[in-house]
Amino acid sequence: MPSAATLLSDVFGYDAFRPGQEEVVEAVAAGRNVLAIMPTGGGKSLCFQLPALMREGVTVVISPLIALMRDQVRGLREAGVEAGALTSGNTPEETDAVWQALEEGRLKLLYIAPERLGAGSALGMLRRIGVSLIAVDEAHCVSQWGHDFRPDYLRIGELRRDLNVPLAAFTATADAETQAEIVTRLFDGQQPETFLRGFDRPNIHLAFAAKNNPRSQILNFAAARKGQSGIVYCGTRAKTETLAKALRDAGHAACHYHGGMEAEDRRLTEQRFQQEDGLIVVATVAFGMGIDKPDIRWVAHADLPKSIEAYYQEIGRAGRDGAPAETLTLFGADDIRLRRAQIDEGLAPPERRMADHARLNALLGLAEALKCRRETLLGYFGETEVTCGKCDLCDSPPEVFDGTQPVRMALSAILRTGEWFGSGHLIEILLGNTNDRIRAKGHDDLPTFGVGKEYSRPQWQAIFRQMMGHDLIRPDPERHGALRMTDTALPILRGEDTIMLRKDTIVSAQRRPAVKA
Ligand code: ADP
Ligand code: ZN
Repeated sequence: MPSAATLLSDVFGYDAFRPGQEEVVEAVAAGRNVLAIMPTGGGKSLCFQLPALMREGVTVVISPLIALMRDQVRGLREAGVEAGALTSGNTPEETDAVWQALEEGRLKLLYIAPERLGAGSALGMLRRIGVSLIAVDEAHCVSQWGHDFRPDYLRIGELRRDLNVPLAAFTATADAETQAEIVTRLFDGQQPETFLRGFDRPNIHLAFAAKNNPRSQILNFAAARKGQSGIVYCGTRAKTETLAKALRDAGHAACHYHGGMEAEDRRLTEQRFQQEDGLIVVATVAFGMGIDKPDIRWVAHADLPKSIEAYYQEIGRAGRDGAPAETLTLFGADDIRLRRAQIDEGLAPPERRMADHARLNALLGLAEALKCRRETLLGYFGETEVTCGKCDLCDSPPEVFDGTQPVRMALSAILRTGEWFGSGHLIEILLGNTNDRIRAKGHDDLPTFGVGKEYSRPQWQAIFRQMMGHDLIRPDPERHGALRMTDTALPILRGEDTIMLRKDTIVSAQRRPAVKA
């Protein structure tokens, strides 16, 4: 049986679990009774869909929402999973096809509307087909006092007893009374393994920094934490080796880890990390699944992670013991370009690519955030009550300025050159510098030529990066990465909207070796 991690990426196309998912998946797959309370949009369905694939036999999913069931069945089928639904919305042909698949033992997930449970034939059928798990979505519908009460939900407890299989109940309603009612009615009063955890990891300090000299940024971060166990995540295998060496040269105990290493070497490194104090592992994302070291004191990203989910999972490896832990994530325009290109050049179908871009956008929004990182991060996962005080932006609120004017200048340079150029060329135009290419294209005659002299080249680079971070512009892989404007930028271009940019990243960019304009 493939592992949960493999199924997560191969079947569902996700690169990491969202907060809370992994523990629930593990408990459900192991056949324990589970009650999971997760916010809407938190990714509940994966918590029964993935275990369904890990278990023998059929998983019965009970949900009151017909449209949602049909939607999930369609999604699963597109991913190559045998799933079917028995609802009042079915055509007779659809129902026949589901029965047939059941009889042939092909179906992995059977979605069923609660009112179907009343029909005697359904119970007989469920007894015959080898049900291995019951998953109940919107489990609060069993509460007679709630506004979503579904009388048919009262039959579910009986069904569980009758089939004698584990049951996993999911809801977004967290109040104690509803929980108690779910336990009474679905689990006969036997407390199931219950997951109600905020997603926040309050002991982890969050910080991002614009890349200017990544090697020394990481070396400085590690130097301030000498002797502590930490992980540095890198985007490439080669970089894990060079950076581990740089850390060793600076006097740290450090080694590299990536998927291209012999299995035995990987195992030894994992073991060393687990047992030794104060070792730094410089790794690709291949490192981490199954790492269960409670006292990792820090996690740094030398390159931007793939998505906001991957970010959360990777920093979440720090401070499992609850003691303070620190993180630092570096990001630059090249990272954004690389991540976009990876998505665009991947073989995933268009909808999946769009979703990947959206998850990357969420991470970029976090990187360029103007207020509390924790609030931004947890807000993305549906959590709204957030207290922080443990992030770089709470430590020192960023200085912002109205960036509408330079952004419009940049957009104008992009549009007037037909969206065929990268930031290097565009910045030269804005600065009013001539070179052979600019003369050859006649770009020194553009009205935009030289309008941006009040900013330096590094400042313009920071502005372009923030524009990418806000998804105002995107590199087009079909035009060798030339920057094109997105629809998000239209209101700014038209003067209907303004945009605030961060000053600090621009100032820090300025500290680079001065480049004469
Ligand atoms: P709910 O908890 O409201 O039932 P869903 O199961 O519908 O939430 O998931 C909400 C959204 O989160 C969906 O668009 C789904 O594709 C996405 N999602 C779920 N798990 C992950 C993951 N591990 N990584 C990225 N996206 C995910
Ligand atoms: Zn904060």
